[in-house]
Amino acid sequence: MPESLLLLLDGLNESLNKIQLGFDAYQNDCFDKRPPEFFCLELNGEAGELANLEKKSWKGKVISPDRFQDEAADVLIALFNYANARNINLGESVQTKLLTIEEKRIFLEGKGEKF
Ligand SMILES: [Mg+2]
Repeated sequence: MPESLLLLLDGLNESLNKIQLGFDAYQNDCFDKRPPEFFCLELNGEAGELANLEKKSWKGKVISPDRFQDEAADVLIALFNYANARNINLGESVQTKLLTIEEKRIFLEGKGEKF
């Protein structure tokens, strides 16, 4: 397993969990409770806004970097809110997924293929 992945996995659960709990506390303190479906739609809406900016940029329109930052932040916030509403532990989920991806990458590499 690459050192970079080991470093990523080490502490990922704790650090991401702390951030996720912070989003949950802030959401509960200051905003109406919403179901996971709401946040899933919001997440996809925000991802669509980000994708639209990338499409415009790809087509040659000049997009200010702060607009990409703003939409990327919206996506991350919506993902945390979705995960909290759906009781998903993102730290554990990301760790599990990274290990699955690494297993597949190693398998493909053994066959001379790229992931
Ligand atoms: Mg937005």
